Amino acid sequence: MRLGIDLGGTKIEIVALDRDGAVRLRRRTTTPAEYPAMIEAIARLVEEADRETGARGTVGVGIPGSLSPATGLVRNANSQALNGQPLDRDLAAALGREVRVTNDANCLAMSEAAAGAGAGHRTVFAVIIGTGCGAGIVTSGRILDGPNRTGGEWGHTPLPWMRPDEFPGPRCWCGRHGCIETFLCGPALAADCDGPGARDAGSIPARAAAGEAKAAAALARHTDRLARALGMIANILDPDIVVLGGGLSNMAHLYSDVPPLMAAHVFGDVARTSIVRARHGDSSGVFGAARLWDAG
Ligand SMILES: [Zn+2]
Repeated sequence: MRLGIDLGGTKIEIVALDRDGAVRLRRRTTTPAEYPAMIEAIARLVEEADRETGARGTVGVGIPGSLSPATGLVRNANSQALNGQPLDRDLAAALGREVRVTNDANCLAMSEAAAGAGAGHRTVFAVIIGTGCGAGIVTSGRILDGPNRTGGEWGHTPLPWMRPDEFPGPRCWCGRHGCIETFLCGPALAADCDGPGARDAGSIPARAAAGEAKAAAALARHTDRLARALGMIANILDPDIVVLGGGLSNMAHLYSDVPPLMAAHVFGDVARTSIVRARHGDSSGVFGAARLWDAG
């Protein structure tokens, strides 16, 4: 049995996948505010899953952040209770088994590469565009990562082919200016359309379709920026397929409008990269976490 846990800011979800990838159990609970209570809540979910499935599962955990290779502590999580904690060691102690922890974009990439929109493709570049903007890379069934554990941290590279009016770009929470995330995430699109402080981009496509010029212009800028940001990825990684997840991945125009715009930024004379919507939607985090032991 493979247990996957998605540790989010508001909920903790667990899924148990059997050998064939069928869901044997799925459950969620509210995320406690304090760190020790989070460990207890996860331990309870795993104990229940072990008992109800009659098997001791492997455990993978997706978090909105990563483990520092220098300290082993959680960093860059948008949950203050989680930052600075030795999550994998504490969970291993609580569960009596080794635990694998990775970020939610890597989980999306694993889930979609194994049994989603990226199935059958060698290199999958999976993007979460929602409250933030991040990516994960799976190639030949494995997460591509290295000594800094920053593989796929595309959201914190500068927007490429920046125009004069875009330079140097908004200040990012990571301390830099002009990160892709500061242009592409939902709040960035909302603010570009409706001014500082606007947070909700969900209504913008409908407003653009209804003829609101401001909404259409903001969408066009956002689409062009995503095309540039993915064109750069084609020139470095050349993934077979790009899978979009997160709240903004529901915007249908991205799948028709980004590929032709992207072609202008891909070096050479072909631009064949497919861009598709994630198949598992919000469930990708938990499914991908369950698959963190798949590659051995
Ligand atoms: Zn940044």
